[in-house]
Amino acid sequence: MTLPQSPLAESPEHIDHHHHHHHHAEHIFEDHESSPFALTKESTLRDYLYNNKLWVEKMNDYKPNVFEINGKGQSPHTLWIGCSDSRYNENVLNVSPGEVFAFKNIANMISIDDLTTKSTLEFSINVLKVRKIIVCGHSDCGGILNSLAYNDLGSANSHLAEYLTKIDQLRDEKLEELNKITDIKLRAKRLAEFNVMRQLDILRNQSVVINALAKGEIELWGLVYNVDSGYLEVVEA
Ligand SMILES: [Zn+2]
Repeated sequence: MTLPQSPLAESPEHIDHHHHHHHHAEHIFEDHESSPFALTKESTLRDYLYNNKLWVEKMNDYKPNVFEINGKGQSPHTLWIGCSDSRYNENVLNVSPGEVFAFKNIANMISIDDLTTKSTLEFSINVLKVRKIIVCGHSDCGGILNSLAYNDLGSANSHLAEYLTKIDQLRDEKLEELNKITDIKLRAKRLAEFNVMRQLDILRNQSVVINALAKGEIELWGLVYNVDSGYLEVVEA
């Protein structure tokens, strides 16, 4: 079908859409037939921006007032401290933008000498007045596996090796119990749970947390996420 060309047909937006539809289809049906992923390592900036448009459209369909509300400010109920792992984040709670203040790093650590960590705690507790702090580890964590010698991230990455020393120390403390677990995946998950408990202990000793706990303003929860099922489990302290 040939239509007279309108000015709109020449707009960059229109060309983008056309280009991306084609590109997108190629990835899905030829390269990644069964992949659930939206982008690939070969994706271009245009692909990323096109995906953003799709996401905005989806949000406007399913949660039509979320951007209007977010435009007025934020008052998140929760501080989420999780691993940077690509397989999970605060969205596993089925929340919308505006609900959770998030802090992610490798192996969900609370590094008390780190200004970023301390600022995150002060801002979320004293300014945003979050009511819950969640430390959420996960199964199959690279930082945890490194300490169990199933892979070695550190040898070529000196900063990473130094960073992961704290998990090595925790492994040594819990070695007896860990060695009783023969299944490698379960052993790694157990160490991830011990790590969540350890980070909660560290949190409970920070003055900003101590003060908020004393006033009954916050609760601290430890969770572990299963990357192979999507389900959260409570880590019993
Ligand atoms: Zn991880």
